[in-house]
Amino acid sequence: MGLNLSDHQKTMLTHMGMRLDFLSAARAPDMGAPAEAPEVATPLGANPNRAALTSGAAAVPEKGALPDAAASAPTTAKPVVRTDVAQADWDQLQQAVRDCTACALCQTRKQTVFGVGASPSPETRVDIMIVGEAPGEHEDAQGEPFVGAAGQLLDQMLAALGLSRQPDGGPAGRVFIANVLKCRPPGNRNPHADEVAQCLPFLQRQIELVRPKLLLAMGRFGAQALLAPSIPHIEGTPLGKLRGQIHSHQGTPLVVTYHPAYLLRSPAEKGKVWADLCLAQSLASGA
Ligand code: SF4
Repeated sequence: MGLNLSDHQKTMLTHMGMRLDFLSAARAPDMGAPAEAPEVATPLGANPNRAALTSGAAAVPEKGALPDAAASAPTTAKPVVRTDVAQADWDQLQQAVRDCTACALCQTRKQTVFGVGASPSPETRVDIMIVGEAPGEHEDAQGEPFVGAAGQLLDQMLAALGLSRQPDGGPAGRVFIANVLKCRPPGNRNPHADEVAQCLPFLQRQIELVRPKLLLAMGRFGAQALLAPSIPHIEGTPLGKLRGQIHSHQGTPLVVTYHPAYLLRSPAEKGKVWADLCLAQSLASGA
């Protein structure tokens, strides 16, 4: 795919800590070959997030900061049927999320996190809808997904492509950002299958109303939630094997990439995420 970067974009990417020699590789990802999977499965209990929680010695990392192949209980489940949500318009959907008490996370959240970015429009589809996993501490406090250092990194990457989470988008298009779960799991623990099942109808209705040209799943749980119906045993598939391909969610093309919080721990992977973003923008601009 052709991607002509201006000097300004190159400067921005350099400030993000990206080596510019990644960019030539990012222009032409091998879309047919399985992506490499460098992550090593981490036994439950050796997880740095949990170590921090049990020792109390360190701040809890942001959501998505775990190695993507970390062993965990399955988190995919069939979404529950919610006829009220299935018929909701945008305002009704936001209110339904605000009022939701369908799972135990309502008891510990500060507030729900619906999403941010371009609102649905009958005339114009959103170019890219980004799907993360669940609010972390900062998101719970601010009511917005992908804030804090990981959110800033995401915003910088989007800006380098001419995209923005602002309602009007950026010069290259409009973005909407949401999570699978709308409430923060306590202590940033992984989502449970029953929580995902209860919350998925909200995400599904968001996708129907936003009508994105492309879905970008950032992190393991977003990918699992959206691809579980089409990929058997997806819980055991490392994220690295899902990226670098064009998937589909109910007819909408879908690209998988690492969560920006993971990049804060593994900055060497930034080039792969950049390649995935270039692929996503190329597909969205051609839709
Ligand atoms: Fe409702 Fe989702 Fe929050 Fe659970 S996580 S209470 S299903 S909005």
